[in-house]
Amino acid sequence: MSQTKTKRSVTINPGMLCQPIGAMQAVLGVHAAIPLVHGSQGCAAYPMRMFNRHFAEPAEIALSSLGEDAAVFGGADNLVKGVHALAARRHPELIAVVTTCLSETIGDDVDGILRKVDLPVKLVPMHTPSYVGSHVTGYDNAVKALVTHLAEQTGPNSKINVTVGLLDPGDIKELKSMLGMMRVKAIILTDITGAFDAPLILPRPPFPDGGTTVGEIRDTANSIGSIALSKHAGGAAVKYLEMKHKVPMIAGACPIGVENTDAFLDNVSQLTGRPVPDELRKERGRLIDAIIDVQFKVAQKKVAVFADPDVASGMARFVHELGMDPVIVATGTESKEFVKDVQAIASQTGHEIEIILGCDLYELHEAIKRVGVDLLMGNTHGKSIADDEKIAFARLGFPVYDRVGYQRIPIIGYNGGINLVDRIANAILDHADAA
Ligand code: SF4
Repeated sequence: MSQTKTKRSVTINPGMLCQPIGAMQAVLGVHAAIPLVHGSQGCAAYPMRMFNRHFAEPAEIALSSLGEDAAVFGGADNLVKGVHALAARRHPELIAVVTTCLSETIGDDVDGILRKVDLPVKLVPMHTPSYVGSHVTGYDNAVKALVTHLAEQTGPNSKINVTVGLLDPGDIKELKSMLGMMRVKAIILTDITGAFDAPLILPRPPFPDGGTTVGEIRDTANSIGSIALSKHAGGAAVKYLEMKHKVPMIAGACPIGVENTDAFLDNVSQLTGRPVPDELRKERGRLIDAIIDVQFKVAQKKVAVFADPDVASGMARFVHELGMDPVIVATGTESKEFVKDVQAIASQTGHEIEIILGCDLYELHEAIKRVGVDLLMGNTHGKSIADDEKIAFARLGFPVYDRVGYQRIPIIGYNGGINLVDRIANAILDHADAA
């Protein structure tokens, strides 16, 4: 097993997005909340375009619109005017001020500026300078900021908190379905199904129905436990709730595949005392049946996985369950925890895995040429690598904009596993047909 650390001083096709976009996704999962990006034009324009392309939905994002004068004299004036204008025009329940490279570099005291604003709207500062971390870090910082500023002990509520990370609306629906079968009440941090899987009903409501309410976020301090589905994106919030409000936390593996979904359901059972029902055991059986059905098509194929840390490590274990060989597991986010997770999978399963950390697509491409793989799993940007190397390609992660409906199809839980079995096997079959 080897681990590659980028030593070059240039990045060629980055393997990650910047912190604010992760924070914006977290905020758009809160009902009647608007992210206000404290930065310049591009810091809001490019994330909106990414959301539109991946989710096929509009994203409402405000901007303090910093220019040269703010870079010299500070952006407080723009921020205060922006918050007032947004509150007056849209009447949101919450405005999250998402900082950027520029506002962090000029040193605006965003927390201090917001403390002096007197408006009947919750104001939550989120620090997301993009010269460190990635969109995953930004999401993590944003959810932690939400619970830090809103969670409040008022009395036990018999719910669990589940932080979902940067998963898709289809995954959140699958999560709700599993929890519903177990009759478990949950506060989902944060629920983007309202914003990014919205029905088109006229007249349009001022804000999409659904999303996690401010009241629910306040109530997270009273829950019987918290589970982070993605420890890198939501883990900081559940740690905070444990330290500050004594809400026990579990940050396990993302529930992708048989073993990881088993562990997730056991964790829910352990926190709530609710048994895993027969319906879920039957779904598990269907996944195992689907895995057996494709054995002769996929077994021993070499796979490179490129995704956010928790999805990449979850997928590495799942392709092992499929009888495949995870030879490269790569992520654009720097994380020692990710390395430990993948090393544990390698030592438990006996696979030789090359771990690439903080990588760009050039580095991934070079590793694929060196190691030789049959299938690449990654976002739309990986397609050109698969084409160049004439290998099969299965889409995974964010952004996926060269296929329709990706965001609706879950990858978590037993049902998500069945979808992945089909996606992987069909990618290999399509590639064989085209050869
Ligand atoms: S300036 Fe920084 S925060 Fe803005 S888009 Fe670029 S990397 Fe992201």
